[in-house]
Amino acid sequence: MHGQDVALKGVSMTYPNGFTAVHDTDLDIHAGEFFSILGPSGCGKTTILRMISGFIDPTRGRVAIGGQEMNGIGPNRRPTALIFQNLALFPLMTVWENVAFGLEARGVGKAARRKRADELLELVALTGQGDKKPTELSGGQRQRVAVARALAVEPAVLLLDEPLSALDLKLRQHMRAELKAIQCKTGVTFIYITHDQGEALTMSDRVAVMNLGRIEQVGPAADIYNAPATPFVATFVGEQNVLRGRVVGRENGYACLETPLGRLFGVDNRGLSDGTDAMIFVRPERMRIANGTGDPANRIEAEVERRDLEGPFVNLFVRAGSHSLALHLTNSGTAGQEFTGIQTVGFDHGDAVVMPTGELAR
Ligand code: ATP
Repeated sequence: MHGQDVALKGVSMTYPNGFTAVHDTDLDIHAGEFFSILGPSGCGKTTILRMISGFIDPTRGRVAIGGQEMNGIGPNRRPTALIFQNLALFPLMTVWENVAFGLEARGVGKAARRKRADELLELVALTGQGDKKPTELSGGQRQRVAVARALAVEPAVLLLDEPLSALDLKLRQHMRAELKAIQCKTGVTFIYITHDQGEALTMSDRVAVMNLGRIEQVGPAADIYNAPATPFVATFVGEQNVLRGRVVGRENGYACLETPLGRLFGVDNRGLSDGTDAMIFVRPERMRIANGTGDPANRIEAEVERRDLEGPFVNLFVRAGSHSLALHLTNSGTAGQEFTGIQTVGFDHGDAVVMPTGELAR
């Protein structure tokens, strides 16, 4: 098996009722990568998947797989396979027959089917389970049968539409590692749709974050988390403290924002001009109790409202004026103290991101 690249160029999809679910989108997915499309319900993820698989054609723009134009080519003639949340295994067939199903339709003989199915069951760690019925398997095992069945037809691109959402949390986390391992072993391009940021961040080589029919950022998980490109991405992925303000200058390359809680500095990748309405974002784990230590700028006097011990972390919720801020402290050293009353909280310039005011997630 080998993966192929997928390219969307200027793609829009307007449904017959006039609703545009995807707007003028460019996307380059590399051959053999684990690529996730992450976004809230209704943002257009499934619409993109359906255009790649050929169930619908874009109303504008081009879809290409392996450099070949795909517009107008039906799903059966594309080098893709699809796995849904509802796996739709055939309940009366054995695991073996389920996996080999697509091969029979392609005229592969019985002995070759058996051999291929056995190889695939080994790939998904189900050796020896071929004679069972799907009902005799666990949820995670059924999931792996669905993966083996989809891979049986040797797709260059495997499309996965929220395939783990029916599983419980523990199994879901286990299956993330399994899917990633299967993807690495086969080299097939995986395009994974999810609204679960944990799934997208842990499995993917790169992630596209979508909102309202547009892709707002594409990049490795670390970039999406540490260097969000838009206020939506900053607040959809992970937790954030957000303050609004106005740019009043810069110092050592950092933007200075006048906020209701004083002047705060952060990373500004766009060179915002003075007077711009902007927002500053700081992750709770980048906040700290600043009493007497570190950079004297970026300090906020705040009153501790709540302190939750969460095993390895202590979550501190503080109030400054009308603003609530969250701090995630590691449960060691000073974090073990009972922080109460008025505290000075703070963060380093490099741990905050400044962006023009925009729409936030939720
Ligand atoms: P979810 O995670 O809930 O499946 P999604 O991000 O996959 O959401 P899509 O299924 O792509 O979103 O739908 C995007 C938007 O397009 C939604 O507002 C949806 O209501 C709309 N939509 C989807 N299919 C059609 C259709 N056949 N006709 C009209 N509108 C549609």
